[in-house]
Amino acid sequence: MLRYLTIPVTAFQQNCSLVWCDATHKAAVIDPGGDLEVLLTEIQRLGLTLEQVWLTHAHIDHAGGTGELAERLSLPIVGPHPGDQFWIDGLPQQSAMFGFPPAQHFTPTRWLHDGDTVQIGNETLNVRHCPGHTPGHVVFHAPQIDRAFVGDVLFAGSMGRTDFPQGNHQQLIDSITQRLWPMGNQTVFIPGHGPESTFGRERQSNPYVGGT
Ligand SMILES: [Zn+2]
Ligand SMILES: [Zn+2]
Repeated sequence: MLRYLTIPVTAFQQNCSLVWCDATHKAAVIDPGGDLEVLLTEIQRLGLTLEQVWLTHAHIDHAGGTGELAERLSLPIVGPHPGDQFWIDGLPQQSAMFGFPPAQHFTPTRWLHDGDTVQIGNETLNVRHCPGHTPGHVVFHAPQIDRAFVGDVLFAGSMGRTDFPQGNHQQLIDSITQRLWPMGNQTVFIPGHGPESTFGRERQSNPYVGGT
């Protein structure tokens, strides 16, 4: 069984998620943007062994704590897609611009591509490349529990910004309709910010992609 706990971190209230295999208590953290002590306290409270860092994309609120966490615990960094290399290179400027603590530089251990899988304990998740918000954005789909961790691709009632460098509005729409909707209307998604929703609900009522 795959389980998860979402913990908002940083001033941006970014939804960092701990995901773990119930059988082995091995865990991955998705998007450790900051507040590492909070995350480590929860990991200890839950009795988990943190083994990997997974990244949806390299904006500071999602990736800012990655370098420090990976170095402290000797963890592999998995993702995002290589399209986000320039965002990783720009983390120091992102830190300064948004008043974050200085982000430690890192190099992903493994880049992700569309159709890849990631594994934690006995559990496997599917990777979809969903560009538009950033060019290297990926999402993690856990069909065994009908959940998708979608970062800043889609929100309840909204979708990701596309006014950043290399953002692309049509590409984001295509990512949502061609790569998220096929996961099924019943799928609950955990967005990068704000409450969970289902793809079915967004297909009905989201002002950006409703009716698609
Ligand atoms: Zn973002
Ligand atoms: Zn974000």
